Amino acid sequence: MSSSHLALFSLQGKIAAVSGGTRGIGKAMAIALAEAGADIALLQRDLSNTEVRDEIRALGRKCEVLQLDIADPESCTKAIPAVLEAMGDLDILVNNAGIQKRHKAVDFPDEDFDLVMQCNLKSVWTLSQAAGRHMVKKGSGKIISTASLLSFQGGLTVPAYAAAKGGVANITKALSNEWASQGVNINAIAPGYIATDMNSALLQDDNRRRQIIERIPQGRFGNADDFKGAVVYLASNASNYVNGEVLVVDGGWMGR
Ligand code: NDP
Repeated sequence: MSSSHLALFSLQGKIAAVSGGTRGIGKAMAIALAEAGADIALLQRDLSNTEVRDEIRALGRKCEVLQLDIADPESCTKAIPAVLEAMGDLDILVNNAGIQKRHKAVDFPDEDFDLVMQCNLKSVWTLSQAAGRHMVKKGSGKIISTASLLSFQGGLTVPAYAAAKGGVANITKALSNEWASQGVNINAIAPGYIATDMNSALLQDDNRRRQIIERIPQGRFGNADDFKGAVVYLASNASNYVNGEVLVVDGGWMGR
């Protein structure tokens, strides 16, 4: 690859905010953005967890840990203003933090439905709106949200999660219709079955794990590092003509 091609993917001088960067997919994404040159604001609920911050600082990037509890609407409202104050600007927002609650539909508690919607969809809206206001004003920016295969499929025992992730895919398209002409690219990444804490029960169930692997054309669960390329692409100039897209990263599951 020539250096001009590599420059397309450079995030040198950019400032990115990543939610849920403490572990799993979000940690890999935050580190990838830093490796590509960005300074990082890690939005997380536990400010005392500085492990990823220290890893990013060791790469020579500026990195701050800032408060965000996606379950708390007020915390979501405060997050982007806090990033702008601490970092001075915002070029890239990654809405990654999320939760899953499993119950049969007939038993699904209302409070869990509301919590899943707040954490996985409403928080994405609140943060994207605040980031979008800033980015539209300056005429540039990249917003990337983590969707799911369940943005397209219903799953079993996850009605709230499927509704929320379907919402993430569609709000991405809705916002891109308004912001594409303002220099702001908003897109999503839909992971397939990924070996993170979110799937720990599934990974421990030998039968279920084997069935899933047999169904995945690539023959393995994804891992968090499989998201490094996708997030750098959507955060960089390489994707400047990509708007409202949901990039599926699933080892081929959707195509089968
Ligand atoms: P993990 O469970 O490994 O990590 C979840 C992350 O979200 C952690 O950083 C966690 O922080 C953070 N988080 C959870 N609740 C809150 C909260 N209330 N406030 C702030 N942060 C919070 O999940 P994954 O890495 O697997 O998932 C990342 C994203 O990818 C999620 O949106 C998920 O829905 C999506 N996804 C994952 C798939 C998979 O197979 N793993 C498949 C499809 C989509 P803390 O360390 O503080 O708990």
